Amino acid sequence: MSGATLLKETGPREVFCGLTSIVWLHRRMPDAFFLVVGSRTCAHLIQSAAGVMIFAEPRFGTAILEERDLAGLADAHDELNRVVKDLLDRRPEIRTLFLVGSCPSEVIKIDLLRVAEKLNNELRGKVTVINYSGSGIETTFTQGEDGALKALVPLMQTTNKEQLLIVGTLANAVEDRLIKIFGKFGIENIHSFPPRNSTNLPSIGLGTKVLLTQPYLTETSRELKDRGAEILQTSFPLGVEGSRKWMETAAKAFHVPQSTVDATLEPLIARAQKALAPFIEQLKGKKLFLLPESQLEIPLARFLHNECGMDLIEVGTPYLNREMMKQELDLLPIGTQVVEGQHVEKQLDRVRESSPDLVVCGMGLANPLEAEGISTKWSIEMVFSPIHGIDQAADLAELFARPLHRKNILSQKKPQTT
Ligand code: SF4
Repeated sequence: MSGATLLKETGPREVFCGLTSIVWLHRRMPDAFFLVVGSRTCAHLIQSAAGVMIFAEPRFGTAILEERDLAGLADAHDELNRVVKDLLDRRPEIRTLFLVGSCPSEVIKIDLLRVAEKLNNELRGKVTVINYSGSGIETTFTQGEDGALKALVPLMQTTNKEQLLIVGTLANAVEDRLIKIFGKFGIENIHSFPPRNSTNLPSIGLGTKVLLTQPYLTETSRELKDRGAEILQTSFPLGVEGSRKWMETAAKAFHVPQSTVDATLEPLIARAQKALAPFIEQLKGKKLFLLPESQLEIPLARFLHNECGMDLIEVGTPYLNREMMKQELDLLPIGTQVVEGQHVEKQLDRVRESSPDLVVCGMGLANPLEAEGISTKWSIEMVFSPIHGIDQAADLAELFARPLHRKNILSQKKPQTT
């Protein structure tokens, strides 16, 4: 039975849009290019989120819709075709081109699917062009990855061979470590999605067992299931508890003896618990409020309560997939208030009333809350940091201990008098 009390809320939202996920996806697949079809606002968002210099030649860009396009005075489809051809002439190393829709391209109804189909016919397999939406009208920032992966599924070949498919972007070093652990279990046929090269897509079919690394891949997992894969229902690999259950689920699916699992994981768990100890000291008994942004909130709350001793005031999530989250909800303490959706003003009122020690939130809310003396942690840091797996548990805890530590130091500093 779930320990959580589930509530729903709608109203004004304060979240990043799906374009943000380009920042980690372009690093994962260096042979791909992400072309946002959007406005100058979209271009600014990507550049500031990625922290790149304007003169660098990154693997993403924006085809800027000018006022003439937005007013319907120019044929935006023709303009886009021209921009894509210029780009591909200049960057012959691009193997996959993602055309990423935005709020403006959706408002003026540019049919990116049709543009992609036309370009694919013209390019005859030299470059694969696919499209998805990163628009902020309907999506939050992690759903951008869901859209991009979903768009890649139809390009995957079919296989019925037994294999483990790890789904969701991870830091390469973390992924290597996880694959090594599964190798010790004796699971050898392991693939990742997204792959490290966009053209190296894994095959999929009836023998595929999928382990999700991220809780925001609802659409992608639906597509993978439709292709015959089995989605293993488990917790997410954050912290010792979640990572252990995640790995044990894979072990069970591949008939690995429990004794092998224990012998492999016990030393890692002992090391992780030792590394976690100083952070537990700092986090224990502190009140935590998670505002909805990344869909990582529920596994994070579970880790911060069960392993670090924090008290949960409220756990917000922009979207709750009850089936995918069942195991995580069951691990939350009885009575935890989980709120799906957002009414930012009401949530901020509840934050102020409950005087939390730490609020996990989007960057847009962090500064105003800090100005009111409330410590914050940006949700977006969780997707840029290597936090998955038993080995990373202490690093994950440290991300939350840091703002509390900083506040402590600042409160001890006395103003200088002359
Ligand atoms: S896609 Fe929408 S929300 Fe995102 S930067 Fe562009 S205009 Fe803003």
